[in-house]
Amino acid sequence: MNKSLEIYEATRKKLNAFNYALYLINWDTETEAPQGAMEERSKQIGSLVEMMLEVSHNSEYVEAVRDLFNHKQELSPVLQVEITKVFEALEKELKIPNAELVEYEMLLGKANNIWCQAKLTNNYELFAPILKQIIDWQKKYIKYLETPTLKGYNVLLDDYEKGFTIDDYDNFFTTLKKELVPFVKEITKAQPINDEVVKKYYDVDKQKEFAKYLMNVMCFDQNFGLTKESEHPFTSGYGTTDVRVTCHYYPNLLTSSIFSMIHELGHATYERQCDSKYDDTALSGGTTMAMHESQSRFYENIVGRSLPFWQRHYPKLQSMFKDNLKDTSAIDFYHIVNKVEKSLIRTEADELTYPLHIMIRYDLEKLIFSEDVDINELPKLWNKLYKEYLDVEVPSDQMGILQDVHWAGGSFGYFPTYALGSAYAAQLYHQMQKELNIEEVFGDETLAKVNEWLKEKVHKYAGLKTPQEILLMATNEKFNPHYYVEYLKDKYTKIYKLKK
Ligand SMILES: [Zn+2]
Repeated sequence: MNKSLEIYEATRKKLNAFNYALYLINWDTETEAPQGAMEERSKQIGSLVEMMLEVSHNSEYVEAVRDLFNHKQELSPVLQVEITKVFEALEKELKIPNAELVEYEMLLGKANNIWCQAKLTNNYELFAPILKQIIDWQKKYIKYLETPTLKGYNVLLDDYEKGFTIDDYDNFFTTLKKELVPFVKEITKAQPINDEVVKKYYDVDKQKEFAKYLMNVMCFDQNFGLTKESEHPFTSGYGTTDVRVTCHYYPNLLTSSIFSMIHELGHATYERQCDSKYDDTALSGGTTMAMHESQSRFYENIVGRSLPFWQRHYPKLQSMFKDNLKDTSAIDFYHIVNKVEKSLIRTEADELTYPLHIMIRYDLEKLIFSEDVDINELPKLWNKLYKEYLDVEVPSDQMGILQDVHWAGGSFGYFPTYALGSAYAAQLYHQMQKELNIEEVFGDETLAKVNEWLKEKVHKYAGLKTPQEILLMATNEKFNPHYYVEYLKDKYTKIYKLKK
């Protein structure tokens, strides 16, 4: 036991160092590495990954982890959770032959380029053969990892949100479908909101200045974090002392940088507010994908698209863009940032229709892994679901099935966590309303009190607790999707002045 613990801790130190190096290389790749360096650096990354696998698949280490897992009652409660996580992940990895993993990585490397090309030229036929190869590999992967209780698509879902199965998601999405599909149809019949004003020209340097202002509002401490620009905004970090976010600025869409900044800073706040005692352990960082997304969306939508927030911060924005915004009031702006549209593109969707975009992808993934779907039929199925849920005609595959990078990256089972995160956030919000004065804390100079509440209820646990445990402790209830539906219906009924 003691010997195993020694081996475990020494190996973990090495793996942490590899992870830190790879994190920095990846950050550099995404933000400022010159294009011409990519080929050379991918060789170096390949070598680093190989060295890392030698360490993490070393038989002495594997045996040590197994030994600790088999005697876990003798470990401290925190270490029990950590060892269980490490053991389960390692056993999963070991079930897949290394050679097949390498082959798959190469396939994904090619797939990304082909997908880009296919999207650019609106040519699904170009993408279909490699998509089929990825799906076939995923089916093989499922076979390797299936257990008596976890089968088929459940294996993939479990990778992204442990413990959440097809039955759970079906229950969740059935509720959304029943409640939201007719509600969206009603809203889109109401008087539309005019948002032309945010599509005027907005100087990018000034937008950056406002992004800095938002960092202060959200109490983002630049001693432990920084921001840069990238094509697609994201957050990455290492422990609680190094958290980085990126943003993208569009001169003709003011709201894009504002909300992606708040979203990414939401992820960053979660990372920063984890208890630092978990740094350098396998429990470092947020607990699951959906819980992480719940926090970014809490800040972006529940706080950032609320009236008290803009009553406080709109005067600052207006003063920076006087010419454009002089005739727009805080309430007008609040309505603009909550405009609902039947749209085609997931990443541009509003808060209300967003989960319907996710539902479509979930339905298709379920079909792909439960039946032998002809890959060439997928665009037709995609378009049919968009008509059914969002009442829109998809004019081209570019605006349809080719829009997302996820499937080209082999990420099946990932999409549903986006919608689930929003629902976790709404349940937490329901509880927060009982404990805090929302008008006051959302409309305060900074979000310090919101941060503090989420830190106590969610963030401080890092990876120690599961989302179900966190929800139960914070709200005295298991996950309940009705809070999400209620929140959305209540908010948009008011904004669109519908009769109840
Ligand atoms: Zn996110």
